[in-house]
Amino acid sequence: MLRRLSFIFIAVFVYACPFAQTIIVRDAEIEEMVKEVSADSLKSYITSMISFGTRNTMSTQTNPKRGIGAARNWVLNKFNHFAATSNGRLTAFIDTTTLQPDKRRIDTALVLGNVIATLKGTDPNDNRIFVISGHLDNMRTSVMDRVGDAPGANDDASGVAAVIECARIMSKKKFAATIIFVAVSGEEQGLLGAYFMAKKARTENWNIEAVLNNDIMGSNNSNETNIIENTKVRVFSEGLPAFETEKNAKAIRQLGLENDGKSRQLARYVKETGERYVDNIDVVMIYRNDRFLRGGDHTAFVDNGYAAVRFTEMNENYYHQHQDVRIENGIQYGDLIEFIDFEYLRKNTALNLSSLANLAKAPSMPQEVKIDVKRLGNSTSLYWKAPNTGKPKGYYVMMRETTNAFWQKKFFTTDLKIVLPFSKDNYFFAVQSVGADGNESLPVVPSVGR
Ligand SMILES: [Zn+2]
Repeated sequence: MLRRLSFIFIAVFVYACPFAQTIIVRDAEIEEMVKEVSADSLKSYITSMISFGTRNTMSTQTNPKRGIGAARNWVLNKFNHFAATSNGRLTAFIDTTTLQPDKRRIDTALVLGNVIATLKGTDPNDNRIFVISGHLDNMRTSVMDRVGDAPGANDDASGVAAVIECARIMSKKKFAATIIFVAVSGEEQGLLGAYFMAKKARTENWNIEAVLNNDIMGSNNSNETNIIENTKVRVFSEGLPAFETEKNAKAIRQLGLENDGKSRQLARYVKETGERYVDNIDVVMIYRNDRFLRGGDHTAFVDNGYAAVRFTEMNENYYHQHQDVRIENGIQYGDLIEFIDFEYLRKNTALNLSSLANLAKAPSMPQEVKIDVKRLGNSTSLYWKAPNTGKPKGYYVMMRETTNAFWQKKFFTTDLKIVLPFSKDNYFFAVQSVGADGNESLPVVPSVGR
């Protein structure tokens, strides 16, 4: 029962009506899209991806049935199929770059391609972009082995399947902001496709507000235990921002914002929104950019100044990851489709979809959010300007204790300022724009207003 009610969040109208409460309910359109996420569709995508034998980045690009070339053409065809019924709003292509041997994990010149589908936003003034990614390439025990079979069902056909399923469902709907669905390549070779895309985005000044990277998200058990865990998923986020750390360090130290970087805020947003829409799954925020000493494609975006998080299953099974398919001492090794829990993958895909939809439907973030420090006092005064795009019905001012991981209260106001009877010494605050259907923008942490 508690879990069913988890999407209900209490907020207080401090201004107009001190004791009235409002309940955040699901946006019916997003709820409908979440219901469309299909375990059967996800299974069919993964089955198709495995049929290419190997998707190693250095595998054949000329064989129509085998290798990374055939696999990325297949993803492009899926996107183009959805594009046909999108009224021209979804467009897809393969963004390519030529790689040279790097004396590390690339030993031959080759063309690397990211398959990108862009669902153009309906508001021509809204330049926000939200990205969902997975990596199409995979590996055997040796990352240099481009010949032998490598199913890569979980790493990372599961993530690419989530990307394709979100594109299928979301391309039929309209969103104010633009959504990019991408299946990158070269992840196992050193995050090459993700860096290619993230550097281009930085150079061309794309306004990417969030990247949801999905990598290894469909298996429900570890190799050490037989415990099934399909009601929890991890979302990794960096704390101290890697991008321009030196420049921002003073304010982070002075205001105690080491736990409020934009990737961490995105992780909180995904937890709140995802759990509002998807039953029987908990988002477990991990306060770390990635798993211990390991990496993923979101890092390329984080390193280029964007908010990016990684979705990964609760327990990884290392018998099935980066392993040649074989039986050894009675143990089945290999990343086989039989180890995917499609109901778990459905829920994890739905978490992505609900977060993306809520972001892309929302007005943009409030501007110039300030915390008033003109005089000392035990209340907190915040003020801001309206967002650049969208028509907010109001704003949520969020609050949490300094030791709390999650926002604990959301105060709604239609005004551009608020005074709260809580001391800025003892709490963190942030402000979100709220659209007509209740969709929230990402939160903005206030800067100092004198
Ligand atoms: Zn992976």
